[in-house]
Amino acid sequence: MAPSRAYPPDLTEVETGSLLSTIKDWSVAHGLTVRPPVSLVAAEADPHGVLATTVPVTLFPSPFPRSCFEQGKSISKAYNSLYAAIAQDEEFLKGIVQELLEVDDFIAELWQVHLKVKEEGYAQKLSLGIFRSDYMVHQSSPENVPTIKQVEFNTIAASFGGLSSQTSNLHKYLAQSDYKYLENGIQQSEMDLPQNTSTQSLAAGLRFAYGAYTEAEKTTYDPCVLFLVQSPERNIFDQRHLEYELREKNIPAFRLPFSEVLARTSVADTPKRQLLYHLPSNSSKIFEVAVVYFRAGYGPEDYSNESAWKGRLQIERSNAIKCPSVLTQLAGAKKVQQVLATPTSASESAILQRFINPSAVASEVKSLEDTFTNIYPLDDSPAGLEARKIALDEEKCKGYVLKPQREGGGNNTYRSAIPPFLKSLPESHWKSYILMEIISPPPVQNMILRNGNVEKGGVICELGIYGTCLWNQDTKEIISNEEAGYLLRTKGDQSEEGGVAAGFGSMDSVRLV
Ligand code: ADP
Ligand code: MG
Ligand code: MG
Repeated sequence: MAPSRAYPPDLTEVETGSLLSTIKDWSVAHGLTVRPPVSLVAAEADPHGVLATTVPVTLFPSPFPRSCFEQGKSISKAYNSLYAAIAQDEEFLKGIVQELLEVDDFIAELWQVHLKVKEEGYAQKLSLGIFRSDYMVHQSSPENVPTIKQVEFNTIAASFGGLSSQTSNLHKYLAQSDYKYLENGIQQSEMDLPQNTSTQSLAAGLRFAYGAYTEAEKTTYDPCVLFLVQSPERNIFDQRHLEYELREKNIPAFRLPFSEVLARTSVADTPKRQLLYHLPSNSSKIFEVAVVYFRAGYGPEDYSNESAWKGRLQIERSNAIKCPSVLTQLAGAKKVQQVLATPTSASESAILQRFINPSAVASEVKSLEDTFTNIYPLDDSPAGLEARKIALDEEKCKGYVLKPQREGGGNNTYRSAIPPFLKSLPESHWKSYILMEIISPPPVQNMILRNGNVEKGGVICELGIYGTCLWNQDTKEIISNEEAGYLLRTKGDQSEEGGVAAGFGSMDSVRLV
């Protein structure tokens, strides 16, 4: 049932102030935090890097259709196995990559890493995916039942799992306290706030892979999990929450800047090719890396020189379980999503069926397809030539977003900016982009606390459903497949991009309606 009164309730100035002070203190006390933006804190104000600040967050959990939330959760495992199957299908990925090679050096380099390791033979058969499938609510008209449509599927460095369960906890805390006491207060019983176990569930995925490694291998050194990170990293607490969760279960976990892979790791000169991590504070202490968890390395910025690519190769050829492997990272390319979703009548299902276990019921294929929105190539195929016309049309382009094969936010071109952008590129490069219909969720109101200021108005919510999956790349056996909690990110409805880290979005949680 939709809330009957205004939601979020109108607040007096005093109420806003009181709510803000609760949120600010709770956030810092519970690690719902990021490092401050460099521009906001002059070096002299924080010379030792001790400061942290609250993450942008909504004052209230946004209303979200229960059926849509359930829909996202119910297809989580099907999506996990779909992308595991894509990662296992080298032939298919080769076809995708070949289209991009000449025009996208980053994809070409990743493919080279795969080819080099393939030549030598992969040491490790197990592969771990920590995935996040992102959706927006789509409602063709107010009479129609809302459904979710997929924005994208992330296979590398899917972030905010460590902060998202805390955001749910913050809103639950407020429902038990501050919300009740407002003039136009809301009772806790009116707030259906589902459990969110993202931190524990993602850590459980890493732990499961760690367990599989240590069971299978006779390790010479103590085994560990290695987080490969960017440095500096503002969103460090998101990652730390996962690390603390592992440490509480007695699993050694270390952070290593991606640029230091060659300096701090080595591959044992044995047939097994164990990955060894040399502790910087005590270089005689060596760990054997069971799982490498990438929170870096998803974009060209992390590969500023040849040694970064050597580092990536070193990890890939080692016996550590990669989260993700190069092939899994490539499976998350937007081009893959487009190939799955381009409407081509009969053959559409045929492509999905290539990856879905023949024993799966037809309804599973249908439930995945139901979340596709139209996505087109911009190559010289018939569909691509049609899409070029749309992309260059001053009117039609307004319903679309143009995406390159990149991750991490801030890379897309929206609506009327598409034709001039395309015209500024050589036509031979257009095929490295995909053209996607814009999803326009029904309007929702909320307030966002960002850098101490409250932004009030229409907002757009994006639901992410996390999943963890461990599989055997050779036998194609899926060893573990779990839904792993959710993320709700909310941005002002005038903003095209929604990244929290990129400074556009905010953390949120769902109030089921
Ligand atoms: P990235 O991998 O960089 O996160 P996304 O495909 O998620 O790329 O795009 C970034 C943001 O752009 C999304 O979080 C969303 O806010 C917006 N966006 C992307 N695709 C769509 C779409 N089809 N409809 C509406 N908004 C979109
Ligand atoms: Mg992404
Ligand atoms: Mg995204």
